[in-house]
Amino acid sequence: MTVWLLGDQLNPDVGPLQSDDDHVLLIEAHEFAGRKPYHPQKLTMLFSAMRHFRDDLRDRGYDVTYVEAESFGAGLDEYFEAVPGDDLVLPDPPSHGAGERFREMVETRDGTLTVVENDLFLSSPDQWESWMHEDGPKDSYLQETFYRRMRRETGYLMDDGDPEGGEWNYDDENRETPPDDWSPPPVPEFEPDRLTREVHDWVIERYDDHWGNPDLGDFPWPVTREQALTALDHFVEYRLPEFGAYQDAMVGGEWALSHSLLSSAINLGLLRPEEAIEAAIDAYESGDAPLNSVEGFVRQLLGWREFMRHVYREAMPAMGAANQLDQAEALPDLYWTGETDMECLSEAVGHVHERGYAHHIERLMILSNFALIYGADPQELNEWFHVGFVDAYHWVTTPNVVGMGSFATDVLSSKPYASSANYVNKMSDHCKSCPYAVSKTTGENACPYNALYWDFLKENEDLLRGTGRMGLMYSHVDRKDDEEWTAIRERADEIRALARDGEL
Ligand SMILES: Cc1cc2nc3c(=O)[nH]c(=O)nc-3n(C[C@H](O)[C@H](O)[C@H](O)COP(=O)(O)OP(=O)(O)OC[C@H]3O[C@@H](n4cnc5c(N)ncnc54)[C@H](O)[C@@H]3O)c2cc1C
Repeated sequence: MTVWLLGDQLNPDVGPLQSDDDHVLLIEAHEFAGRKPYHPQKLTMLFSAMRHFRDDLRDRGYDVTYVEAESFGAGLDEYFEAVPGDDLVLPDPPSHGAGERFREMVETRDGTLTVVENDLFLSSPDQWESWMHEDGPKDSYLQETFYRRMRRETGYLMDDGDPEGGEWNYDDENRETPPDDWSPPPVPEFEPDRLTREVHDWVIERYDDHWGNPDLGDFPWPVTREQALTALDHFVEYRLPEFGAYQDAMVGGEWALSHSLLSSAINLGLLRPEEAIEAAIDAYESGDAPLNSVEGFVRQLLGWREFMRHVYREAMPAMGAANQLDQAEALPDLYWTGETDMECLSEAVGHVHERGYAHHIERLMILSNFALIYGADPQELNEWFHVGFVDAYHWVTTPNVVGMGSFATDVLSSKPYASSANYVNKMSDHCKSCPYAVSKTTGENACPYNALYWDFLKENEDLLRGTGRMGLMYSHVDRKDDEEWTAIRERADEIRALARDGEL
């Protein structure tokens, strides 16, 4: 029997490696990585992490077969030619249908494939099922109730059956913006070693159609387990204390703020979510981090990450094509060029281009909010996220981008995360240095978010007014007269034309 591990299962403690068998198969599939213009730092990180993992396993005494091939099919051909009829064991891949596809590929090559539970996630499909049917079947998913259930089941941040500190959620303490004289805490850098540099040279040469900064620069992405653990320690020591307070803030010139920057390592399997959660709780218990930061961080991993994975499982394949608002505009070129006078978008796109990363609020309230109110096709936006972000995989971008960010399906929320310029101005300092006027909705230089926002509400009135959760917004809609609506529509059309011409 051989344990087959994929590029997002790079952990020496995964269940199947705990058996007596010491044979491991890893396949690098190259053609797959050329199907889209993926960020070169993402490809470098992934292939370098796989090769480091191969070496790490060999050091631990495993017999590793490492196949470099054009496709998984070609890799399996090569493998089964050398080891005919082998029995493979694979942790369940999170991507929709992948386990079944791999099983068929193995069986047509006269091998067998057993797909076992993927213990790199904290909750199993069975746990989700039992939550879904607790107190009768649920007809919609609610992250907060799932999260509370997970807190109870794991005992994380629980005090004798009650939530630590008396509240389940401290989000009302987590909406601050840093003062002008705030200095952001340091960010770790991982000097690329010889192997990473070799991979990077090869990536640049082979995938010359890539999008994103081709240099490694101050490469902040762990490619080994050791680096992932260092990144976790660094976060807990320097950034966790202020993580909560500034979680939703955006500051010009600052790409990381106090975010953990751990998603790429966790999604590769280099770091287990429970390791990050427990390190944060330890910091709280030893008085080194406040509860609002620690609870906020725990909720992201124990609540949101697990929740998104299960919602994806349940909602695919429909979610992969969902577009309930029938949005069909092409994604503006500025998402690729970064060329726009809009300060907030220019910053956020620039962050993605530079390092394959933008933090949560830039993703949700700048990048996807703008695409949503602009009318962009949600599946094209999903593809853009998938290409550009170091932590992006279909299972995690799809619920976040198509569900949460684009409201292309209502399985995740009953109202869209749509906002005007007000939100951006409240949570960032971008508007101060932006040539667009944040408080103007129509006329020359009016901030594009405003007219697009009202136009979006008007355009989707039938669906959104009926949700019952947009009452306040529609009370503002109802106060606008025909003259205002004509001006709003004109400005929204003008903004779309400017964006199409690359002149926004
Ligand atoms: C439109 C959009 C697209 C996104 N695309 C991705 C993606 O491709 N890959 C990805 O891992 N996350 C994605 N997220 C979720 C979240 O924004 C990122 O996980 C987070 O910004 C990563 O940065 P960090 O590690 O510094 O996170 P922190 O802000 O420090 O959060 C801690 C951890 O919580 C987890 N987490 C938090 N929120 C989510 C969430 N909604 N879904 C899944 N995990 C979460 C991540 O593992 C993250 O590392 C997306 C969110 C939105 C709104």
